[in-house]
Amino acid sequence: MTRFLSSLASLLLTAAVATPVFALDSAAVPAQVSPLPKVPAQAPAIRAAKLLEPTLRLPKSKIPGEVRVALTFDACMGDVDQRILSVLVSEKIPATIFVTARWLRRNPQTLAVFKAHPEQFELENHGENHVPAVDQPMQIYGIAAAGSPQAVEREVAGGAGAMLAASLPAPRWFRGATAKYDVSAMTQIRGMGFRIAGYSVNGDGGSLLGAAMSEKHIAGARDGDVVLAHINQPTHAAGEGVAQGILALKRRGVTFVRLADVPDLTDETLMH
Ligand SMILES: [Zn+2]
Repeated sequence: MTRFLSSLASLLLTAAVATPVFALDSAAVPAQVSPLPKVPAQAPAIRAAKLLEPTLRLPKSKIPGEVRVALTFDACMGDVDQRILSVLVSEKIPATIFVTARWLRRNPQTLAVFKAHPEQFELENHGENHVPAVDQPMQIYGIAAAGSPQAVEREVAGGAGAMLAASLPAPRWFRGATAKYDVSAMTQIRGMGFRIAGYSVNGDGGSLLGAAMSEKHIAGARDGDVVLAHINQPTHAAGEGVAQGILALKRRGVTFVRLADVPDLTDETLMH
């Protein structure tokens, strides 16, 4: 036993003596003595927020046989597509237009057209600067998301504020740029008093579809559908198809409604 302890002490002593010698090997020092936890060469990415793209549908009409469709248009930035606007005005087709502060500043003449027909055009909130209402930093279709709750609030409140400043009625609905949100941003937006405007028919694929496909998507709308298309891209082929699709729906005898015309409409989230 004594011998064993002696051997052990000797071993420990050897180790203690050996350590400084070992430490002279500079290459080995960090691995041996570094008090810092090991950091992987590639830090794991922060878990990306799950994005939601809510669906919105109208409740079934109480009138037997009636086919109700809500046409909703985003006016993100840029100009107005007269191919679509002229059809809406000349055919007296009601529509809900989601405008940004940015678009309002640039399109006073079209705003005057909308305001001249308050029974036909409902204007709602598409945000201040067309920044996706997602409270974590990320890119969505190449657009930088708001990235924080403060920035989401600014986007939503800034859009509504610009509408009030333009003497428009206070908006009730919000649709963010890209129509995608994370759960916490949706809760925040609802807490600010807005319903979130999803859709059920993607009419023009972000205004990037060809004319024939846009027409087909919109002309195929069924009872309860909320159609999303863009009214701010006059140079894109999609707009011609959107206009033709609207006319096709009219020929079918569809009843067009605005979101405000459907009092029992809620924004209960259904996923695509
Ligand atoms: Zn938009």
